Amino acid sequence: MNDTVAGCNAQPFLEGWFTLDAERPQLLGNRCVACGTVYFPKLKSGYCRNPDCDGERFEETPLSRSGALWSYSNAAYQPPEPYAQVDKDAFRPFAIAAVELDKEKMIVLGAVVAGVGVEQLKVGMTMELKLGALADGKLTWMWAPAGAQA
Ligand SMILES: [Zn+2]
Repeated sequence: MNDTVAGCNAQPFLEGWFTLDAERPQLLGNRCVACGTVYFPKLKSGYCRNPDCDGERFEETPLSRSGALWSYSNAAYQPPEPYAQVDKDAFRPFAIAAVELDKEKMIVLGAVVAGVGVEQLKVGMTMELKLGALADGKLTWMWAPAGAQA
């Protein structure tokens, strides 16, 4: 099973949420031009949520590709739609990681790449952003232990 290779024609699950660089994907947030607060998902419009800031201009910014594993869980049941659905028998449990991004210090949830289970995870370990395919072939971001062969 090879779920992590990004084909040339692969489509993102969510347009504009991450880059499609197969080797070094990055989540895309945005940053308040006035105070530098970073948002992910992107703040669409309106005012900065920093109570001390009245900024209303935001620029796209790529986020840290790695962070510290903050918490994790095991998804033993298929998530509901809009998660791509597969036959009950074809569903494989996977791990979910909450990772504190190195620079932004925000927690970003994501599935853990295929082949890495909760028994291989440890709070505090360094996790790295990867791309992986959902059941319908669309790409999304996933977390992998840093340095692991995905
Ligand atoms: Zn601001």
